[in-house]
Amino acid sequence: MSLIEEVDGKKINMAHLCIVGSHAVNGVARIHSEIIKATVFKDFYESDPEKFQNKTNGITPRRWLVMCNPGLAEVIAERIGEEYIRDLDQLKTLLEFVDDDTFIRDVAKVKQENKLKFSAYLEEHYKVKINPNSMFDVQVKRIHEYKRQLLNCLHIITLYNRIKKDPKKSWTPRTIMIGGKAAPGYHTAKMIIKLITSIGDIVNNDPVVGDLLKVIYLENYRVTLAEKVIPASDLSEQISTAGTEASGTGNMKFMLNGALTIGTMDGANVEMAEEAGEENLFIFGMRVADVEAMDKIGYDAASYYNRLPELKQAMDQISGGFFSPGQPDLFRDLVNMLMQHDRFKVFADYEAYIKTQDRVSTLFKDPKAWTKMVIHNIAGCGKFSSDRTISQYAREIWGMEPSLEKIAAPDDPR
Ligand SMILES: *Cc1c(COP(=O)(O)O)cnc(C)c1O
Repeated sequence: MSLIEEVDGKKINMAHLCIVGSHAVNGVARIHSEIIKATVFKDFYESDPEKFQNKTNGITPRRWLVMCNPGLAEVIAERIGEEYIRDLDQLKTLLEFVDDDTFIRDVAKVKQENKLKFSAYLEEHYKVKINPNSMFDVQVKRIHEYKRQLLNCLHIITLYNRIKKDPKKSWTPRTIMIGGKAAPGYHTAKMIIKLITSIGDIVNNDPVVGDLLKVIYLENYRVTLAEKVIPASDLSEQISTAGTEASGTGNMKFMLNGALTIGTMDGANVEMAEEAGEENLFIFGMRVADVEAMDKIGYDAASYYNRLPELKQAMDQISGGFFSPGQPDLFRDLVNMLMQHDRFKVFADYEAYIKTQDRVSTLFKDPKAWTKMVIHNIAGCGKFSSDRTISQYAREIWGMEPSLEKIAAPDDPR
């Protein structure tokens, strides 16, 4: 609990200093608040339990629905009025319309319009043509090992190999888009980007695959691009190793904009599943307790590689230069990491992830069932308004009532 780190010379432990100096400490999703009490800051929690709180993150519905997706905001307002924009819990009344064919059709139509608009944007600015009838499968977030863009890559390669084996089967066409920035000094993150674009170069130019699978790297991911791609997404990838994502807010933006989530029981995904019904998300893989149990016995990547033929094939292609012809050892460091010292246990969730992606593909062929699941998700979004988060900070940390009164800025004579 010392404020001074003593190894390799003295340093201030900034996290410990923060806890001691603050009258309240909170995690940003329920699971995160529990983890900091049970492990990371256990001793501080035991000496000062009343200091520890939870404030689950939220997103503002003005930017992340009304501004970025006016079509969906309007279709909702036609059914339940406009008050929900300042009181997002009112979205639950949409459950009354979940079997209403006109509402289902309206929600699906807005999504299709957003997909056409985003396709036109990509074509105009980046000269890439995508099939607007394919599933838009999107993972946009900072590039980091814990977020497991590499697990997504293994799914893409698996789909590619399956299509090549049996191109005539009735595949669900997918456009898989991945975007995000790598920190300048984070070499592994930059190699992950290189792998994604290299897979794209092979997959996108294979005439056997055609329109069934496309891989797009979204450059320069930032809020203005998020506002365009999220309303056009069908599937949101939230696939971090359980216990590593504090909350996530991208997950909430997709949910509010009518995308379904494939995700692990991590961060705010846990509460999203609780609010929308777990049957309305595609939840897969290890829970936090499973990850902890595995840490005790030790994670053995090779056992998965040897047992799962499609995983072995994908890894052999990456390490054999299939995606980097002319530079066969380009991805040697990534392969070594995945096989020898993967802190985020990508292979341990591979099998469950692929099986769950198969369920996603099956459901996408039934647009009505898909859209009904979307409506359950939108109806469950109320908790994830930042209005709720900010009110909780005001009342539970600062002991004040939130107010709608406008306060003039110091230099504003209003
Ligand atoms: C919301 C947002 C994020 C956070 O996304 P996560 O998936 O929660 O990591 C990152 N970057 C931009 C531009 C965003 O809009």
